[in-house]
Amino acid sequence: MRKNRECKKCGRCCYYKIIVDGVVVYTPYPCEYLDVETRLCTIYDRRHEIHPLCATAEDGIKREIFPGDCPLVADIPGYRPPRMKLTMRELHEIGRLEGPFSGKGRISGKLKK
Ligand code: SF4
Ligand code: SF4
Repeated sequence: MRKNRECKKCGRCCYYKIIVDGVVVYTPYPCEYLDVETRLCTIYDRRHEIHPLCATAEDGIKREIFPGDCPLVADIPGYRPPRMKLTMRELHEIGRLEGPFSGKGRISGKLKK
């Protein structure tokens, strides 16, 4: 039976992500439009207009940015969930880059949202 694919509004997917060795990894940095207390988006109705990095559900599924237990992806066969935490070393590496998420190499600064 197919699981309920409704978003539970946990806010976890609203944290910035980077690519490390080809794998999506969550950073501890929330989107500037996320209310971290309520875990709700403060611009929800206009989010794609105001924040172009905000992915649609379809795009997010395709790019495998949702946590593995998110209802949107939990029953998708072969879905590869992101790693949910950076290592200390990776965090330090990000800190040394120009701008919080720029740079090339092992850690790619391309933001995924
Ligand atoms: S991780 Fe899934 S359940 Fe949580 S806010 Fe994102 S889409 Fe909704
Ligand atoms: S703009 Fe998108 S990523 Fe940012 S808080 Fe709203 S839904 Fe989340």
